[in-house]
Amino acid sequence: MKLSRYLHDSLDALGIGACEYDADMRAVGWNSTFLQFFPEDEGVIYVGEPYGDNLLRFYHGRLAPEELPDIERHVAEGVARHENQTQPFEFIHHGRRLRASSLRAPDGGRVRMWQRLDVESHAETAPELVLPLIDALPFIPDGATILDARESVLAANDAFRRLYDLPRGSPVVGRTLNEIIAWCWRGASPAGAWRAAISNGLRYDGVPFEVELPGQRWLRLIARHSTGGLSFFTHADITVAKRQQMELLEAQEALRRANAALAELAETDGLTGLANRRRFVAGLAEAVALPQPLSLMMIDVDHFKTINDRFGHLVGDACLRAIAEVVAGQVRPASALVARIGGEEFGIVLGGMRLETAHDMAIAIRRSLALMPWHTLHADLSGVTVSIGLCGGEGPLDGTNLHARADEALYVAKRNGRDRIEISSLPGAPLCIAG
Ligand code: GH3
Ligand code: MG
Ligand code: MG
Repeated sequence: MKLSRYLHDSLDALGIGACEYDADMRAVGWNSTFLQFFPEDEGVIYVGEPYGDNLLRFYHGRLAPEELPDIERHVAEGVARHENQTQPFEFIHHGRRLRASSLRAPDGGRVRMWQRLDVESHAETAPELVLPLIDALPFIPDGATILDARESVLAANDAFRRLYDLPRGSPVVGRTLNEIIAWCWRGASPAGAWRAAISNGLRYDGVPFEVELPGQRWLRLIARHSTGGLSFFTHADITVAKRQQMELLEAQEALRRANAALAELAETDGLTGLANRRRFVAGLAEAVALPQPLSLMMIDVDHFKTINDRFGHLVGDACLRAIAEVVAGQVRPASALVARIGGEEFGIVLGGMRLETAHDMAIAIRRSLALMPWHTLHADLSGVTVSIGLCGGEGPLDGTNLHARADEALYVAKRNGRDRIEISSLPGAPLCIAG
């Protein structure tokens, strides 16, 4: 993005500070007025500095010692403001009132600019102007307060009292917002970070901020600070909108979880918990595209129909589950894809694995199946065997061809008497292992 030197100088001539950030929120460039407004950055800020580090420095200079433990949250809120800001806001820094704006650049970066405000351009609050304002407070539908330079309430309307549950006659004038909100939270453990919200609200001009009250009630406050030291606050009840927003977020989260569960279910075999055919096809397509060795193993249970016919479907199902467990237990690495792709047929995609290693794995699977205590599924059940077809090569490969060759090897194993492993080599690849 990088604004030209010419533009930086032009902004200097207008007395506007500018600092650019890239899409990753790292500093790209700044002008001299920026360093004049933020002298703490002089000689410290550097190209590539994360915006959060800049804010850390900024807040170190601004926060009161008792607020420093919360500095990380201030920084996080500042970063969020940087990302979401659409309207200019104002604050006082090193005795200057600055109006800050932040514009999104087409490449996702941001340009932040600061304009120094003249005293005349800002609301003045001569005493003769304040009195009519106090008279007008009852006519403002939202809660409204005027705070003096010590941040104590100078005047408030009835809507303000109602919002904060302040009984008529209870003292409001002379108390700070902090004291009033602390009073609201008396006896309850405060849920929100309202103290920081208030101190930020007092610092920034025109930036709406939210304060949580007990009973899951929410207020939105906006402050305008005058040059005479007075601040004007409005307090609006946003409980309904906030609850709807929270419900919406919860509903979205539940929907996201349900969708994730459905997606998982759509790719899982219900009987064995292995990946299903859909996942197998997708995984194979992914694996064949990679430039690495790849082996594909197809396993089919021998004479499975007879097992069903003799012992019933339930025993057949238990048998399939046991075979799935044995196969999954023998397959390394964990990233290999073990799937049940049909009734009593399994497919294993072994990305990164050479045929020799896959062959050893097939031998281990047959050995484990031979050691299974099949009689625990049915007293008369013994010796469940499988036929295995193997094919492999150096990726990227043609997935359809690889699959067809592995199937072919499986049928050769069946034809040659079952209970064995057969290997089919791809054209060009030497058949290196005897079946
Ligand atoms: P071969 O050695 O030639 O593979 O013979 P086979 O009997 O294993 O093969 P065939 O294809 O003739 O039979 C497969 C049987 O698998 C038929 C079908 O009823 C059974 N089957 C398919 N899905 C399931 C299942 O989910 N549970 C059970 N219990 N049986 C199933
Ligand atoms: Mg079979
Ligand atoms: Mg079959």
